Amino acid sequence: MASSEAVASALETIASAFNRHPSWVARCTPLWEREFGTRTDGQLDRALRVWIRNEAKAPAIADLHGLMDGEGRNGTPGLVNRPEACASCQFIGWRQAAWHRLDKGRLRAGTFALPCDCPLGATMGVGSVPRMAATLAMWRSHPATVAVHITDEDNPVLTKEERGVNAPVKPG
Ligand SMILES: [Zn+2]
Repeated sequence: MASSEAVASALETIASAFNRHPSWVARCTPLWEREFGTRTDGQLDRALRVWIRNEAKAPAIADLHGLMDGEGRNGTPGLVNRPEACASCQFIGWRQAAWHRLDKGRLRAGTFALPCDCPLGATMGVGSVPRMAATLAMWRSHPATVAVHITDEDNPVLTKEERGVNAPVKPG
């Protein structure tokens, strides 16, 4: 559970970051100790740091719980109300894709950022950007396609070969 020291430190940080009167800290302490009794010191500290980086007002208790509930891999708290992301896009909503195809006897490769098919990806570039599944299906069914690569959880970055270079096709 979050220690009295961690709660006191969090409240003092909020008081100095958001200009709260010192009496506010004393008034909040019992409630915050009770409300964060199920959390660890580390959770409280990480959530507060993310909040302060992203918000211009002091957090409510529910705001910090929301960040802790959204805590993903590597102990990184999620932003409040941020749609769920996935490991395939490294929790950023975008994936890198490469399309290698033959064009007049030459191998051509293009790289693209495509919105992931997770809920966070669905909010990216809406309307202006081709969707991932449709784009991959189009590439894979195209008669000139040589290879299609897309980043995922196991391969978060395209290799130089996967990104491709425009090179003449070797005979044979
Ligand atoms: Zn994703």
